[in-house]
Amino acid sequence: SSSASDTKNAPALDVLQRVFGYGEFRTPQQSIIDCLVSGEDALVIMPTGGGKSLCYQIPALLRPGCAIVVSPLIALMQDQVEALQQLGVRAAYLNSSLSGEDAQAVERAWLGDQLDLLYVAPERLLQPRMLELLQATEPALFAIDEAHCVSQWGHDFREDYLQLSELHRRFPTVPRIALTATADTRTREEIERRLNLETAQKFYSSFDRPNICYQIALKENPRAQLLRFLQQEHPNDAGIVYCLSRKRVNETAAWLADQGFEALPYHAGLPAEERAQNQRRFLREEGVIIVATIAFGMGIDKPDVRFVAHLDLPKTVEAYYQETGRAGRDGLPANAWMVYGLQDVITLRQMLDTSQGSEEHKRREQQRLSAMLGLCEITSCRRQALLAYFDEDMPQPCGNCDACLTPVPTWDGTEAAQMALSAVYRTGQRFGVNHLIDVLRGVENDKVFQNDHHRLSTFGVGDALDTRTWRSVIRQLVARGFLTVDEARYGALRLQETAVEVLRGEIEVQLRKDPKPSASKRTTKTP
Ligand code: ADP
Ligand code: ZN
Repeated sequence: SSSASDTKNAPALDVLQRVFGYGEFRTPQQSIIDCLVSGEDALVIMPTGGGKSLCYQIPALLRPGCAIVVSPLIALMQDQVEALQQLGVRAAYLNSSLSGEDAQAVERAWLGDQLDLLYVAPERLLQPRMLELLQATEPALFAIDEAHCVSQWGHDFREDYLQLSELHRRFPTVPRIALTATADTRTREEIERRLNLETAQKFYSSFDRPNICYQIALKENPRAQLLRFLQQEHPNDAGIVYCLSRKRVNETAAWLADQGFEALPYHAGLPAEERAQNQRRFLREEGVIIVATIAFGMGIDKPDVRFVAHLDLPKTVEAYYQETGRAGRDGLPANAWMVYGLQDVITLRQMLDTSQGSEEHKRREQQRLSAMLGLCEITSCRRQALLAYFDEDMPQPCGNCDACLTPVPTWDGTEAAQMALSAVYRTGQRFGVNHLIDVLRGVENDKVFQNDHHRLSTFGVGDALDTRTWRSVIRQLVARGFLTVDEARYGALRLQETAVEVLRGEIEVQLRKDPKPSASKRTTKTP
């Protein structure tokens, strides 16, 4: 049988095949397992879908005692434990969702040597009761999943994770493995330091997902663009469409269903039953499209997701990478497709400005958003830029992203940028995009006259460019941080310090030439 009780001392490969039913290890699973089995600590940074779980699940079966897995998300914990139980592995969890009775039953099994893996919520692990039990049982290992939660720099920071350094102090001989898919050097160093993993063996995998083709287009008419993308590339495929708000999720799902797609909504505002049912259908049926807020996807293990589409811009590159990473886990070609526009930039910047948190926190979030915008606006290989964000160097352009496949034309926008920035300055940094474009183009309307803007030296200097081009210029200036959007003043554009360099002619501004909207775009309404 595949019962876990007869796996102690078996070769790791044997367990992989017999218990988990896989043929071979992926790199670097075997080395990580060997490291833990020999009693050493490991720090594992591996992209989502890379196969982190087996790195501690197999050592848990190979080493004497029960492995303790710290996991921050109750739902994930339950999924993992159920999946393990189905394989015949003796796994259980302890978290706040259990009744006192059930929790006692789990504890009894644990103390009676009937468990190989015990999943525990971080806040529970360091309670006195738990520590007592840990002392009594000599754990096989500690696995700290989603280890980036110790990082105060990241957005998933969990106070409880800081306490996990205690584990090393109290149980110095029990090997620990910390795992995360968050890769930037800074987070990495913070994990090392906060969890005392300086001497751990490090396993850093590449974050490249070569089978995913990245495409980011300018948002013109998102529904029509999405429809064209689906019809041309994924008429019958399973995929995920991400939207920022629940309302947009509902509307988009209904609209896609009208267009003949098997599309289902998913967000935290739906009744739990409906949500579970939609998720089940997505996992089990063929060709279902889930339209979702970011609430969807954590722990979703569906290998044949052929595309991930974003109708709204994610707030960070990490989020973009995570979300797009749900496509193509089976290694077959998949698309990460997104449309974005000036309004996304403005909305997200404003959301951040008005969000809770310290000024320092907001500033960092703004920086992270800027990095995301940078990825949208670059004219060179997207994958190179994406990997560079994770401090990974890719020497050659990838050949499998929109920038590589259809090189983006650029133009020297230095003069246009100077005009736009000086229009912002001369109008007192009090006006939004539309009025500024009117001033630049010399449009004579009430608002212009009321403010005497027809007398400005910048009035009409930009009449050689059309409104569309000006929107593109301003979007790119915002994206590159020369301008910001002042939420407190109804979207007024303001100069940033670096704008001075453009105004003085100290830097050249190469802009991407946005493609002309295609004719078919007016057939449907914007969501
Ligand atoms: P992560 O936690 O890194 O996101 P998971 O541990 O959930 O990744 O693994 C992702 C998927 O890859 C799962 O479906 C898992 O069963 C599968 N997988 C992991 N290792 C292997 C392997 N050696 N061979 C085949 N499939 C694997
Ligand atoms: Zn590329």
